[in-house]
Amino acid sequence: MRVYISADMEGVAGICAWKQVEARGGTEYARCQKLMTAEVNAAVHGALQAGATTVCVNDAHDGMRNILVENLHPGAQLISGTPKRLGMMEGIDRGFTAACFLGYHARAGSPGVLAHTYSEVVHRLEVNGEEMGELGLNALLAGYFGVPVVLVSGDQVLAGEARKLLGNNIEIVIVKEALNYHAVRSLSHRQARTKILQGMLKALARKNLKHLPAPAPARVTIEFNDPARAAAAAILPRCQRLNAVTVTYTGGDYLEAYQAVRSLIGLAKSV
Ligand SMILES: [Zn+2]
Repeated sequence: MRVYISADMEGVAGICAWKQVEARGGTEYARCQKLMTAEVNAAVHGALQAGATTVCVNDAHDGMRNILVENLHPGAQLISGTPKRLGMMEGIDRGFTAACFLGYHARAGSPGVLAHTYSEVVHRLEVNGEEMGELGLNALLAGYFGVPVVLVSGDQVLAGEARKLLGNNIEIVIVKEALNYHAVRSLSHRQARTKILQGMLKALARKNLKHLPAPAPARVTIEFNDPARAAAAAILPRCQRLNAVTVTYTGGDYLEAYQAVRSLIGLAKSV
């Protein structure tokens, strides 16, 4: 049994401010690196207890150098650094039994804590007409590789996204309630870790796990916060500009569409 973990930071218990998840946050950021690493370790512990032979952790936040390797559970491997070809999903392949998204946050425009989609320059993103955030984009990529998403952790808004997209065949661990963009009511760190460990055990005990079908062709549409961002994104070959702030790209398969999303947002952020 091979288990893949994509670990973000905004959805870790207690976290409610950008300063806590950015290297410039200093000692507060350093503290949150420990919290993130400990939640990851709880999941790794659960996976190994459930019989996993490989647990691969991909650091999926910002510069992707957040997880403290010196504190990482010795049973896990860690992918860190950027750029990575598949970004938040680097390392995923057809051989994984299950994928888990830890410390994830809700999509741009939703009432989740620190809600965004890859970047604050994105106002709204759709895949084949359905609104998606990072959870949806990454779950579809897992689906492209035939890997089911079995566990998600974060706030209650993210939980709603996960339930809608992935149905009941998934364990959702709500570690905090978003009160607004910058405020949460959180479980204790210890309780969050316990629930993540238990969630992993339950998730991997499930039978008949199903991956999401990845659409092909896949049309991604991104509405940016301002026209300068859309103008920069529109430089990507085969991209179409729909209006001042919106661009669209149709990938022959979902992997192409996923990479287009990352390229479009990367270009938009460059101005
Ligand atoms: Zn993040």
